[in-house]
Amino acid sequence: MAKFLITGGAGFIGGNYLNIMVNKYPDDMFVCVDCLTYAGNIETLKQIMNCKNFKFIRQNICNKEEMFKIFNQESFDYVINFAGESDVDRSIVNPEIFFKTNTIGTLVLLEACRIYGIKRFHQISTDEVYGDISLDNTDLIFDEKSPLRASNPYSISKASADLLALSFYRTFHLPITISRCTNNYGPFQHPEKLIPLIITKAKNLEKIPLFGNGLNVRDWIYVADHCNAIDLIVRYGTDGEIYNISSNNERTNLEVAKTIIDFLEKNERLITFVKDRPGHDLKYALNSDKIKKEMHWKPNTEFNDGIAYTIKWYLENYDWTCCARKKDNCD
Ligand code: NAD
Repeated sequence: MAKFLITGGAGFIGGNYLNIMVNKYPDDMFVCVDCLTYAGNIETLKQIMNCKNFKFIRQNICNKEEMFKIFNQESFDYVINFAGESDVDRSIVNPEIFFKTNTIGTLVLLEACRIYGIKRFHQISTDEVYGDISLDNTDLIFDEKSPLRASNPYSISKASADLLALSFYRTFHLPITISRCTNNYGPFQHPEKLIPLIITKAKNLEKIPLFGNGLNVRDWIYVADHCNAIDLIVRYGTDGEIYNISSNNERTNLEVAKTIIDFLEKNERLITFVKDRPGHDLKYALNSDKIKKEMHWKPNTEFNDGIAYTIKWYLENYDWTCCARKKDNCD
């Protein structure tokens, strides 16, 4: 039996990870630490809340004293850090909380791992740490050795956390791994994010706001494919290594909006272009050959299937979306 600390497990990716892994590994124990910010939703964990191999602790990862107590009491084997402030627009309005949680919070966890001992600390990072590329560039794809060129407060707070984790490997031989993934979509994502926002606006026949001309490109991966990749890295990855995760489903924001509108049989005239995000990254493109080759991982979900399932999920779970929206005015 192994014991896992999952931070940020009431959020989108951590919640999906827990809903899959608590059932997949009944002999392992999963402890979720989450302070339930506006983005955390305890309802996401409803299906596993009463499982014998799951426990929820409400705590802020930046609270060093309390986090050290939890590490001391629980003796974790594995720590996976999903906790984070994850919204680029919010990082432009209020950068400080991003550095507190994403950078200092990660430092608290790394220190706790060093002091109390663990088999592996895994940092959930993002493709955004490599910065963007021009829209017409089809060649330049970032691999794990590409330089960090993060460009907004969110991505810089994440890149800083990656560097801290790498420094703990080099300096203290702490067994760390890092994964950098592209944009995720799927159930349980906060309705401020692009895909749930488009679905809920289209459903309610409200205007769908797209930044600029809608031609910024993102590479979309279904969240369960990301979770399965994390599971492989945590169990079989090599200490000190970085793994890119991507699914090669590049779409402009406008294409994504049109796909959802078509599926819901609504009118494209709902789309409205709004003032662009300052410093808006144009396009990210990741090479994920390393995880495919070393761990035989591959994404299983085609974009058209994943998006159809996701749209249905938001329609059937509209209560969850309303509950997430109530915590914060996300319009
Ligand atoms: P999310 O915003 O949906 O969830 C974040 C969770 O962390 C929430 O439950 C929140 O309550 C919790 N949290 C925030 N601050 C905390 C703190 N100080 N202490 C304890 N808990 C705290 O985010 P997400 O989309 O699930 O992303 C998870 C991680 O994955 C983030 O670090 C993000 O940078 C990274 N990531 C996300 C994507 C994506 O497309 N969503 C892509 C690549 C990487």
